[in-house]
Amino acid sequence: MSAKFTPSIEDYLECIYQTNRGQGVKSTDIASKLSVSKPSVHRAIVTLAEMGLVTQEKYSLIYLTESGQMKAAEVNAKHEIFSSFLQKVLNIEPAIAEEEACKMEHGVSMETARKFSALTKILEEKLDLSQLWKEQEAEREK
Ligand SMILES: [Zn+2]
Repeated sequence: MSAKFTPSIEDYLECIYQTNRGQGVKSTDIASKLSVSKPSVHRAIVTLAEMGLVTQEKYSLIYLTESGQMKAAEVNAKHEIFSSFLQKVLNIEPAIAEEEACKMEHGVSMETARKFSALTKILEEKLDLSQLWKEQEAEREK
């Protein structure tokens, strides 16, 4: 396995993971979800296949392999963790949190992501975060 897990490769995995409901994914679906061209999807799938992360028979559905599934689940888990951290702890609106979580998920190890997850839980338990942000906003408007 020589190719690396670039953000782009991880985005493809995440997209296939989220679209796939056990029935395989069409490359046209990936193209529209990621707003990329069909040739780009094709190139990415070739790379993913070389990395042993997906399988595709000529012009047919794309499936995650077992290791593809594991890696995709990890990227997806990081996404959920950061999205939740941004929304709950930092009071970022959902659409922006989703977009930014998709960037953060590529730069951080699973171990660090788990700490973010733990921190989110601790802060939620100890503090009334939404109340604190309301106060903060009221303060700013003064
Ligand atoms: Zn994401």
